[in-house]
Amino acid sequence: MTVVSSPSLEFSSLESALKHYFGYDSFRPGQRQIIEKALRNQDQMVVMPTGGGKSLCYQLPALLKPGLSIVVSPLIALMQDQVQALEDNGIAATFLNSSLSGIELRERERAILAGEMKLVYVAPERLLNEDLLAGWMSQVYVSAIAIDEAHCVSEWGHDFRPEYRQLQQLRQWFANVPIMALTATATERVRQDIIAQLALNDPQPHVSTFNRPNLYYEVRSKQKQAYRELLQLIQQRTGESGIIYCLSRKRVDELTGKLQLEGISALPYHAGMDNKTRAENQRRFIRDDVQIMVATVAFGMGINKPDVRFVVHYDLPRNIEGYYQESGRAGRDGEPAHCLLFFGAGDIKTVEFLISQKVDPASGEPLADEQRIATQQLRRVIDYAQATECRRIIQLGYFGEAFPGNCGNCDNCLNPKPIEDWTIEAQKFLSCVARVNQRFGMNYVIDVLRGSKNQRLLQNGHDRLSTYGIGKDRTADEWKMLARSLIHQGLVDETSDGYSVLQLNELSWEVLRKQRAVAIAVPPKPASTSTNTTTAHDTEQVEALFQRLQKLRKRLADEQSVPPYVVFQNASLREMAETQPLNETQFAEISGVGSRKLEQYGAVFLAEIRAFRQEHGLSLEPVRSGAIAARPSQPLPEPTLYPAETHLHTFKLYQQGLKPFEIAEERNLRLSTITAHLAELIEMGYDVPLETLVLPDRQERIIAAIQVVGADSRRKVRDYLGEVFGYDEIHLVIAAWRRQQAATKTNR
Ligand code: ADP
Ligand code: ZN
Repeated sequence: MTVVSSPSLEFSSLESALKHYFGYDSFRPGQRQIIEKALRNQDQMVVMPTGGGKSLCYQLPALLKPGLSIVVSPLIALMQDQVQALEDNGIAATFLNSSLSGIELRERERAILAGEMKLVYVAPERLLNEDLLAGWMSQVYVSAIAIDEAHCVSEWGHDFRPEYRQLQQLRQWFANVPIMALTATATERVRQDIIAQLALNDPQPHVSTFNRPNLYYEVRSKQKQAYRELLQLIQQRTGESGIIYCLSRKRVDELTGKLQLEGISALPYHAGMDNKTRAENQRRFIRDDVQIMVATVAFGMGINKPDVRFVVHYDLPRNIEGYYQESGRAGRDGEPAHCLLFFGAGDIKTVEFLISQKVDPASGEPLADEQRIATQQLRRVIDYAQATECRRIIQLGYFGEAFPGNCGNCDNCLNPKPIEDWTIEAQKFLSCVARVNQRFGMNYVIDVLRGSKNQRLLQNGHDRLSTYGIGKDRTADEWKMLARSLIHQGLVDETSDGYSVLQLNELSWEVLRKQRAVAIAVPPKPASTSTNTTTAHDTEQVEALFQRLQKLRKRLADEQSVPPYVVFQNASLREMAETQPLNETQFAEISGVGSRKLEQYGAVFLAEIRAFRQEHGLSLEPVRSGAIAARPSQPLPEPTLYPAETHLHTFKLYQQGLKPFEIAEERNLRLSTITAHLAELIEMGYDVPLETLVLPDRQERIIAAIQVVGADSRRKVRDYLGEVFGYDEIHLVIAAWRRQQAATKTNR
């Protein structure tokens, strides 16, 4: 067994160190490998998407190595949050920046020199101050340097910071100290630039997939009722944080005002506000004092609030990379989150207008290249919005990552839009545009097609046109859908003079001359946005407890004036609400509860849970649920059967902390195949705890079904349970059930 030692403690494995310091049970994909390399003092270039868990990659090694780790970070606010979160886990960390007084700085310097600190966060310009480096810092044993947001060093990146350039000198000052550069920037050019600028030594970049499986991507067409839909979404998600992005400051202010009138707790954020108000609004959002941040793209960089549950783009984003980064601020904690884009033809005009404003400030000449690139990027956003294939194929493809598609967590995968041939309808529509002399807008044209008795139409004598009433077979909404699609596809033009008059172009004539077919994606009936199919019988009770724990957390956080997530993240609270631990041992098993958190918060949270259970007339004895025990009371016999190579491969990845769908991705196999491997491993007695795969109350219900219909047929079990249960989870529970049956027999 590997023994990992830290200066003061010994751990039987990296996992136990992880649990001790951070309370997590397993590593996220990639973390383990990166940490192992860090412990071998190699330079590294780590590319992981937002929420991938980059911080842990340098934090855990810092704790396991002797000496001090330096973390270079660009934003003061970010440093404070990170240090706060570490301190709350009982980890000795501090930061040095301009917000501190001379006395505070000297105290921290003393603590570092005395070897009391494991991590220090510092801005590049402060670190590369010669007085510091040649002065007291030269007496510190520095074991590693981590450079967060490393793309700031590259002019090719979207956030170049001149002060990061000074980091080139790091190597001279810290010749033999390993450097880890971390970024969420996906482009190859920036990566190469970082390696060169920082003179990383053979870093063999670790590039994670940019897929964020927990994010549900959806695009809706932005019609009149878009605002209602937005409101509904927010109201359905009471108590959950969300960001709404708008294209301009004006729209941010308007929308915030509207939402506030409805009684929604929302605040604005944009570059036009004074610094103080902006910082205050941001702070209130991070502290959960306000639910919604309505913002321009100025908001977000460096916000590492993990529990943003939805990001809505109320206006069109300018490019795909921007959209990926902005929407990616949702769900950093790995829990389900919703990314919704409202796509309206009107916005295209606005963005086009903004693009046309890109002129040389000196001469006033249009910046042709920039305009061309921006137009191209806009085109790709439109393609994304109109796409009928898996959203992830397009997003990840943009970063050069091939994605097989059918992610099962985007609108197009969940509700595939049938493509229909609407050539005939398009011809009717366009010829009607021609008949009204290209002088009217979409609604008027549709009135003519549908044979309306509208006064204006009759006055114009348009009831005598040959196209009058030829479109009665379609609803007005269907015609609008077609018209919009024609506009999006560039098959007809719409003027931008405020009148939105439809005009035919070259392509329209091709359609009319039958030289071009028209296909449009027909949206299914509005789908429910929820992807969560849990239907536990006590959902309501769990939800009530969850909300109560959130309140407790907020109170504790306010008392210490820290953001609530520093106390516990939502995932931990949810697990508490679901498993309802009644003693410290059970509480310590919750993900996110490390030794320090247990000590600091265990008692209050346990008291709250007990009070809740008492009020609901529930037992206070630690209950053994009908679910299969996480750890069998009697030792299972050693595995005697040997699984096939492919099963072992799956097992290895599982042990590294990958979730089944991640293993499927990694191995390029179907999820059901991976489930079958895991099920077989479980049945053979390999250590694959069922509770890591199936929620306890779902296990319970599946077992109840097995007891009725037997374990021979998954089909029967599923029929008995109904649609909301999947074959995969049934498969796993059956395997565990069989294993337990076999074990009881042998142990008897
Ligand atoms: P990044 O910097 O890559 O955006 P963070 O380091 O902020 O991501 O991590 C995102 C979230 O994931 C944080 O809330 C962190 O506590 C959590 N996290 C990181 N590693 C793990 C893990 N192994 N298990 C559970 N949660 C984790
Ligand atoms: Zn998809």
